[in-house]
Amino acid sequence: MKIILDFDYTIFDTDKFRGAVQAMFAKHGVGTELFKRSIEESRGEAGEWHPVKQFEILKKEGIDKINSIRETLNRLTDNSQQYLYEDTMPFLEKASKNNEFSVVSYGEDKFQGAKIRGCGEACKYFNKILVTQNLNKDKEAGEVARGDRAIFIEDNPMALAAVKKLSPNIITVRMNRGEGRHATLPSGEGIDYHVRNLLEVETVLANF
Ligand SMILES: [Mg+2]
Repeated sequence: MKIILDFDYTIFDTDKFRGAVQAMFAKHGVGTELFKRSIEESRGEAGEWHPVKQFEILKKEGIDKINSIRETLNRLTDNSQQYLYEDTMPFLEKASKNNEFSVVSYGEDKFQGAKIRGCGEACKYFNKILVTQNLNKDKEAGEVARGDRAIFIEDNPMALAAVKKLSPNIITVRMNRGEGRHATLPSGEGIDYHVRNLLEVETVLANF
């Protein structure tokens, strides 16, 4: 079966990664308020965090160590593997024996792509990596499934509903680790299974 994975808050501990990024910015003189505001102001049309635009904003705010921030951020994304959840690698190793993995992730292309590729060991298991600015991921998930039997694991209930609507054949699994901005949202329609970690996904997979 094809397994379509979301990245942030599904297989990747985004809070932990963001904490490391924020600490690095703080070392370069960017305090919490400016860090958060510059992220908000950098966001693209679809709401995605855009580091390059953020650097321009910080420069205007009088932060002078932009090159060092950029290089350190690159190092953090290049070594992002350490921010995978503890159950991610064991799950990929085990489930890859009978399934084919792809990642469909929302974010700014360059930054999000680097963050995913930085998880080198995990990437070995990914047949396709799609980064999109479409929060709903409906077309992208359909493109990966191509009418084959597929399962979509994601923490955003809106995306799960949209994927189900466009591709009713895709099995939808809501991941809720109790983290991220979607954790407290109601499930709504279009969700086949609820899980709290990837070990529970193994139980779901055993049904098929
Ligand atoms: Mg997510």
